[in-house]
Amino acid sequence: MLLQKLQALGTAASWDSCGGVKQKSFRKAGIPLEYSSFVHDCASTSEKCRLMKVLQSNKCIHDCKYCVNSTSKGQKEELEPKEVAESFSLLQRKGFVEGLFLSSAVTKDADSTAERMIESARILRQEMHFHGYIHLKVLPGMAKESIFEMAKYADRLSLNIEAPSAQHFSELGSTKDYYNDLEKRLKWIDEARHRGARISFTTQFILGAAEESDLDVLSKMDSLYGETSLWRSYFSAFSPVKGTALEEKKPENEAREHRLYQSDWLLRIYGFELKELRLALNEQNRLSLHEDPKVAIAVNSPDKFPLDPNSAKKEELLRVPGIGPKALEKIEIARSGGKQFKEFMDLKKCGVIIRRAAPFLQLERERQARIAEFG
Ligand code: SF4
Repeated sequence: MLLQKLQALGTAASWDSCGGVKQKSFRKAGIPLEYSSFVHDCASTSEKCRLMKVLQSNKCIHDCKYCVNSTSKGQKEELEPKEVAESFSLLQRKGFVEGLFLSSAVTKDADSTAERMIESARILRQEMHFHGYIHLKVLPGMAKESIFEMAKYADRLSLNIEAPSAQHFSELGSTKDYYNDLEKRLKWIDEARHRGARISFTTQFILGAAEESDLDVLSKMDSLYGETSLWRSYFSAFSPVKGTALEEKKPENEAREHRLYQSDWLLRIYGFELKELRLALNEQNRLSLHEDPKVAIAVNSPDKFPLDPNSAKKEELLRVPGIGPKALEKIEIARSGGKQFKEFMDLKKCGVIIRRAAPFLQLERERQARIAEFG
């Protein structure tokens, strides 16, 4: 009975942020395959770990057009806080999971649902003395105090913004308010951090359900990174679910997720500005599904290349395809030791991917491939 509940509530949680079931690793770890709906290999924590990932409940008062929990379809279940904590503790003792990802549909109202999630986490922390990773989902419309309470027990809080603007969001449902239920709560998560909560916080966009462009998504991400301490964004390509209002809508190409993850990386890690990312967009303000946005930006910036790696500034080199932060660090160490790069092999030793970087670099002894030859 409990297993069936966990399977139903694990399946209902599987579309959210991290996740992926690797049956091979399950077999290796001796995890029964019937646990695969609620045990996930997860690469989104700061350290990779395996999580128990479930919803506290899958009965929802909201009418999100893409979500099966908004319908009467499927098995409706709810876990008691004690059931969450005890199931997790059992899986953890068996060595099947290292952390918990707990989300929920909104059963009666946001705060009473959140109370049950908080209680699950509290039992784990205070009664079972679990000190590992807990990720809790902030629910749309939750009170500020409930968010602060969640932050006491969690390592990460997240709240899915779903769409890049109120206008796009209105296409996805009628019961949630973009500004009040989502944006305001994102700011409260940020406030919890500023008050000393040791949490990271993340959000997620659904791609393709509201006809948003990549520029819409990138602009929203950029403003969230600028205005809050949001750690990172996740993307979920829309896929129609039978029985929902959008069941007839075309699924989004999953390659779009990948290109937006690459762009997110450029914004957060490489320090690109939104205006540079615009160079990778086509007339419909979409990224190419077939080309790395960093390459597209470099190809569309002929005045910035080729660069001499002996004299170029750090931030210039970071804009060369095939040079990432680790390679840049090695180039910097070599340069500060007086190294002169004369051939591509010298750069390869620093971790530069020459086949990608060569058209954008100028070295004394190497013939310079022209950007036009690149491809
Ligand atoms: S709030 Fe919307 S997306 Fe979340 S569970 Fe309810 S119906 Fe689904």
